[in-house]
Amino acid sequence: MATLVLADHDLGQLAPATARVVAAGLQLGAPVDVLVAGDDVDKVATAAAALEGMARVRVARSAALATPSAEAISALLLKLAPEYGAIVAGSAAVGRDVIPRLAAGLDLMPVTDIVAIHAANRFDRPIYAGNAIETVVSNQTQQVLTIRASAFRPVGQGGSAPVEQVDAGGIAAVTRLLAAHRTESDVPDLATAQIVVGGGVSVGSAEGFKLIERLAHRLGAAVGATRAAVDAGYAPNDWQVGQTGKIIAPDVYIAVGISGALQHLAGIQGAKKIVAINTDPEAPLVKIADVALIGDLFAVVPELIEELARLGIGGQAQG
Ligand SMILES: Cc1cc2nc3c(=O)[nH]c(=O)nc-3n(C[C@H](O)[C@H](O)[C@H](O)COP(=O)(O)OP(=O)(O)OC[C@H]3O[C@@H](n4cnc5c(N)ncnc54)[C@H](O)[C@@H]3O)c2cc1C
Repeated sequence: MATLVLADHDLGQLAPATARVVAAGLQLGAPVDVLVAGDDVDKVATAAAALEGMARVRVARSAALATPSAEAISALLLKLAPEYGAIVAGSAAVGRDVIPRLAAGLDLMPVTDIVAIHAANRFDRPIYAGNAIETVVSNQTQQVLTIRASAFRPVGQGGSAPVEQVDAGGIAAVTRLLAAHRTESDVPDLATAQIVVGGGVSVGSAEGFKLIERLAHRLGAAVGATRAAVDAGYAPNDWQVGQTGKIIAPDVYIAVGISGALQHLAGIQGAKKIVAINTDPEAPLVKIADVALIGDLFAVVPELIEELARLGIGGQAQG
């Protein structure tokens, strides 16, 4: 039976993570449909149709779906579920809300936070705050899954899947979105960035954290922070990486002045290479790093930015 991937979208744009969730869906070995649920979603459907490898895009339009209501989306998925062997969403805000509701409705156990797919019923997922990976074999009649998008390479953009309408009649929700508070940012999304520069509390101030942002800007990287840096008010909450923050899996994670507490490491297990900049050669993060620069971040980071500029890498950092 086919696989249904729930498209993630916001403000009329398909989330880049969807291309990664589709890639994961394709690894299940069945044809993949993508569901775009919303109200004014023509642009999202067009972007979804351009993803490679999909059988079709299914569009459900309804006022009840105008905001990402887990109640309404899971009701829609329940209607479509009999057609699918697996229903898959990203492990982001919407997927994490929708999938458990859907699983409860289907009386199935969801398998969440998948980072690798070995077969249509065999998955890897982190446990104990990322300190161990468990392999789950799910012999249920249907799979209901959330995927850590950053663990999968996105599919390409050369597709032209047909777009079909789905009847969303009767979908309703008693919950209502009162307000959405948004953070404007031109830096890449932490969850899917290929390079992340993370800063710790040792930057000393919000002004000091700008150094981390300048290095990230030069590299075209996303910016992360430790909880200590966030709690100190040096970085916004949505930059926090770790057990109680975002889970990242970039190709390169550059950790600047970060000790490597277990709770922080829980968020960076998927990083392919780690570079640590720290004054303490004994810091846990230095010990697990592929490359460690032992030195004062206030000397090392400006030097690094300067050298990158000299090599013509990046070019938009302010200094
Ligand atoms: C329930 C719970 C959940 C948590 N969740 C998270 C989470 O999601 N994410 C998270 O990050 N933390 C989390 N924490 C907090 C975590 O335990 C650590 O306190 C935090 O990660 C430490 O942040 P830090 O590395 O910035 O600071 P510190 O541990 O104080 O480390 C600072 C580092 O900077 C180095 N340093 C100092 N000065 C310089 C300099 N000039 N140049 C270079 N290096 C320098 C030091 O050698 C040290 O290694 C959680 C804690 C609890 C209890």
